[in-house]
Amino acid sequence: MTAVFAPAPATLAKTSTGEEFPVRRVYCVGRNYEAHAREMGKDPDRDPPFFFTKWADTVVPSGTTIAYPPQTANFHYEAELVVAIGKGGRNIAAEAALDHVYGYATGLDMTRRDLQFAARDAGRPWDTGKNFDQASPLGVIHPVSEVGHVGQGAIALTVNGETKQSADILDLIWPVPDIIRFLSSFYELQPGDVIYTGTPAGVGAVVTGDAIVVTIDGLTPTEVTVGPAVNA
Ligand code: MN
Repeated sequence: MTAVFAPAPATLAKTSTGEEFPVRRVYCVGRNYEAHAREMGKDPDRDPPFFFTKWADTVVPSGTTIAYPPQTANFHYEAELVVAIGKGGRNIAAEAALDHVYGYATGLDMTRRDLQFAARDAGRPWDTGKNFDQASPLGVIHPVSEVGHVGQGAIALTVNGETKQSADILDLIWPVPDIIRFLSSFYELQPGDVIYTGTPAGVGAVVTGDAIVVTIDGLTPTEVTVGPAVNA
């Protein structure tokens, strides 16, 4: 018996094997491509990566029509490589980090940019800018046994067929083994955790009716459409 009726706690993402991947936590890396750091008004550097989090139930599958969220007039896409953790651990060494990866997917770190910047500039948490309903579209997860490790390859995003972001996974300031090394020093990673690894340059706003597609070489694209405002 539970005290209140509530939805099941985990989001079930799809894998290319036809199985379900139970999403436990969503971790995100900030500013992990040099050109994107510059367009955010920051100097790229080799400072350690920084992280923020989103609720697991912000993950929605490719094919979803995501509502235009409330309290924003600057709703942005961010194309990202997503790492799905299959084996947990703390203080994982970079050399061992890839052993903890179940697989990889395309994804979107949707952002209320006006709220994010207002919070950033006021020294406040980013939560309302980053963590909101349907903010984390996620493509089909491909296991390492199928696609190997994704350390390079084109990453791109189109809006209504027009290319807005185009880069290479090689351009990551902190590649996946380092991300896992740093993240696992702060948190005990567990199977089911997913990590959005950061976005390349070219972020921008979308409006109701726009169709967004994220592609990464070797992975299934993530495709979403922006729906009407939730409070319209
Ligand atoms: Mn991001």
